[in-house]
Amino acid sequence: MSKKRDYYTVLGINRDASDEDIKKAYRKLARQLHPDVNSGADAEERFKEVGRAYEVLSNPEKRQMYDLGADPSASGGGFGPGFGFSDIFETFFGGVSTPRGPASRQRRGQDALIRVEIDITEAAFGSTRELQLDTAVVCGVCEGTCCRPGTQPKICDVCKGRGQIQRVARSFLGQVMTTQACAVCHGFGSVIPEPCLECSGEGRVRTRRSLTIKIPAGVDTGTRIQHPGAGEVGPAGGPAGDLYVEVVERPHPVFTRRGDDVHCTFEMPMTAAALGTNLDLETLDGTRTIDIRPGTQSGELITMRGLGITHLRGAGRGDFVVHFSVQTPGKLDEEQERLLRELARLRGEERPAGRMAPAHQGVFSKLRDRLSGR
Ligand SMILES: [Zn+2]
Ligand SMILES: [Zn+2]
Repeated sequence: MSKKRDYYTVLGINRDASDEDIKKAYRKLARQLHPDVNSGADAEERFKEVGRAYEVLSNPEKRQMYDLGADPSASGGGFGPGFGFSDIFETFFGGVSTPRGPASRQRRGQDALIRVEIDITEAAFGSTRELQLDTAVVCGVCEGTCCRPGTQPKICDVCKGRGQIQRVARSFLGQVMTTQACAVCHGFGSVIPEPCLECSGEGRVRTRRSLTIKIPAGVDTGTRIQHPGAGEVGPAGGPAGDLYVEVVERPHPVFTRRGDDVHCTFEMPMTAAALGTNLDLETLDGTRTIDIRPGTQSGELITMRGLGITHLRGAGRGDFVVHFSVQTPGKLDEEQERLLRELARLRGEERPAGRMAPAHQGVFSKLRDRLSGR
């Protein structure tokens, strides 16, 4: 295995980088190096290296240890400096592995999921939405410290700030040392003598927040859009979780979406179908005029290329497909009936023999083809 590089170098950041900088640098590298997108020879190794560096530097305690010269991620790799007797003992005898030193009060906030209803036009072209979220934010009074302003956490008297208590117990192995979280400070190593009144010492408060989100063109029901860090803030002002926006597309009264194509059915009078015409049609892109050829049959369709839904990945758009349904007049007045009978007589169709359509051209096979997208 190659020699370990400095974690700050791995992430390409300075030693005084803020938590936010560390997170940003990690996200950027992880995106570039993820094995799903990067097939480079050493990408996987570097991806793991970046993950190890982030795991240590994103945790304040581990980062502090690292800055002092220890490597908190070097588990099982021999006992470096900073590993005391009890650590070795635990490793040998399978003791409960408790985190060394006091635990941080700060924890990552939960992810949140919110569903957003959109219509087909928003799916086609994308949109921007103003959302109201009930979420937790950093307490403005104590700024996440959990303490009443002007006061500070106090080192726990019982564990002297270690966050854990060691006990010696007898067992068949002789004396065994066990480590438990301190019950007085709950493992934090400090207590808060005067909790902030605004947040009851939580370091965060619940509130209603408005957020503007972008819905990309091409989304469909079930698409989830991740907004890193837009979830709720964690205890003691810990880093925020992520917000997931799940899209639900409302059914449209006349347009049906199939993949990125939009289908609609146009009901056309028998006379227009026979004589041909042009008609103004509502599409996602406004009114378009299309030509109907004389002799148009029910089930025929016109495909308008590139007037469907924008592809979520890649360029271009699906198609807009108009199906025709020829309407036979149901009610005729005297004059109309006379004219139709005259027409039938001229066409020799007063007692039509009719004929069977070939099986592969019939209505049923057309329907099947359409459903399977052929
Ligand atoms: Zn507070
Ligand atoms: Zn304690």
